[in-house]
Amino acid sequence: MKIGILALQGAFIEHEKILKSLGADCVEIRQLSDLEGIQGLVLPGGESTVQGQLLRKLNLLEPIQKMISDGLPVLATCAGLILLSEHLESDETTHLATLPVTTKRNAYGRQLGSFTTAAPMKYVGEIPMVFIRAPYIESADNGVEVLATVDEHIVAVKYQNQLGLSFHPELTEDNHIHQYFLDMVASRI
Ligand code: GLN
Repeated sequence: MKIGILALQGAFIEHEKILKSLGADCVEIRQLSDLEGIQGLVLPGGESTVQGQLLRKLNLLEPIQKMISDGLPVLATCAGLILLSEHLESDETTHLATLPVTTKRNAYGRQLGSFTTAAPMKYVGEIPMVFIRAPYIESADNGVEVLATVDEHIVAVKYQNQLGLSFHPELTEDNHIHQYFLDMVASRI
């Protein structure tokens, strides 16, 4: 199984380590040719504004958008979720905009917005969740499945082939989400 990991900025190495340990082949995505033959895609955390600018500059935005719309399984965490969101609560500029939700950036405040908790997530069970200047999903359109909430805010959703998380599963020892993502990829191929 060949998984692409967007490697322009942010916490991509951690995803790569976990996916390799679960038996996947990983390719770091930095240019168009890297996208060839990938069967799943990870959009890591980091800084969504920077990642969005780089996606445009490198002409990766539209090809990735099309691959996701055509059904490529995608796991997006934190800034990755912001890249996927169709609407952003306080930004005019959206990026891939394939996931029909409205997401609020830095939703927990910029300074004190980092914390760890644990909560149940549909399909994977109770998991640790690390939030770092995290967004949450303010509202989700019909057809978007809410997988987890923390303090009544939506922090994990699934919409067809897209899995969007406002926290960082790659910064914990718990691999259930990555395994679930690989199962999504396997069931498509
Ligand atoms: N605050 C970042 C943003 O708006 C996301 C933080 C993260 O990915 N940990 O892009």
